[in-house]
Amino acid sequence: MPRILLLGGTTEASLLACAVAGAGWDAVFSYAGRTAQPMAQPLPTRIGGFGGVAGLVGYLRSEGISHVVDATHPFAAGMSANAVAACAVAAVPLLAFERPAWGAEPGSNWLRVGDMAGALAALPDLPARVFLAIGKQHLADFAAKPQHVYLLRLVDAPGVLPLPQAKVVVARGPFTVEGDTALMQTHRITHVVAKNAGGAGARAKLDAARALRLPVILIDRPVVPVRPVAGTVDEVMAWLGHNARLGV
Ligand code: NAP
Repeated sequence: MPRILLLGGTTEASLLACAVAGAGWDAVFSYAGRTAQPMAQPLPTRIGGFGGVAGLVGYLRSEGISHVVDATHPFAAGMSANAVAACAVAAVPLLAFERPAWGAEPGSNWLRVGDMAGALAALPDLPARVFLAIGKQHLADFAAKPQHVYLLRLVDAPGVLPLPQAKVVVARGPFTVEGDTALMQTHRITHVVAKNAGGAGARAKLDAARALRLPVILIDRPVVPVRPVAGTVDEVMAWLGHNARLGV
């Protein structure tokens, strides 16, 4: 019988949690603890960092974890790198559950950049109205261009913001193209900045930007160490089931 550690924080992780719970497997769902009220899961849930690679190795051993599925966000590169390293040390099989990156549809106006600094540099110098759809972690990077009005969409109401002209919408996805189109029209958005997260729930802003003929500055995913990857819940379940039968 496997005992699974499911590293979560994404819609895909929640879908997988339902499938694992439905299969009756022994599993623990793990959140970093970034949001005030994380989605309830149908699995026993723990919240908070493990304490780096060494902490995760200790956790895998003390909890008797037999398999790890990394279903974290594609931009959670630190956690993913730690999972690769810790599973190697503890000799625990690891599978990443990763959604494909977004590709541009005809009519899209995307400028792809490598990181936050590239996104900042790509914004104009003249004042603009920017839908800064990057979550809360890297907002301070954009303080170097305070001339822009920034529209932020955050899961939790923020404290003091590093951007002098920020407007905040508190909302949790998935979002719709109609809703995001209306949001961008209401705020007279001229530019969109987004991470290439992939997945259906966050894609709406890109389709809305295309409909409104707005430029999108799209940040490429960070590099993570090579690991086996599955793209669907069924593939992950097959991997878990296969390994469990073989006792690996
Ligand atoms: P990160 O930079 O890769 O992780 C930083 C540290 O947070 C990790 O080293 C780990 O701490 C802890 N951590 C991250 N995910 C964890 C998990 N699922 N369970 C336990 N500890 C975890 O990650 P991040 O970009 O801050 O993202 C944090 C979480 O938010 C992730 O779980 C991710 O799935 C979710 N999320 C991120 C984004 C994004 O754009 N980055 C968007 C949506 C959701 P220790 O080293 O102490 O173990």
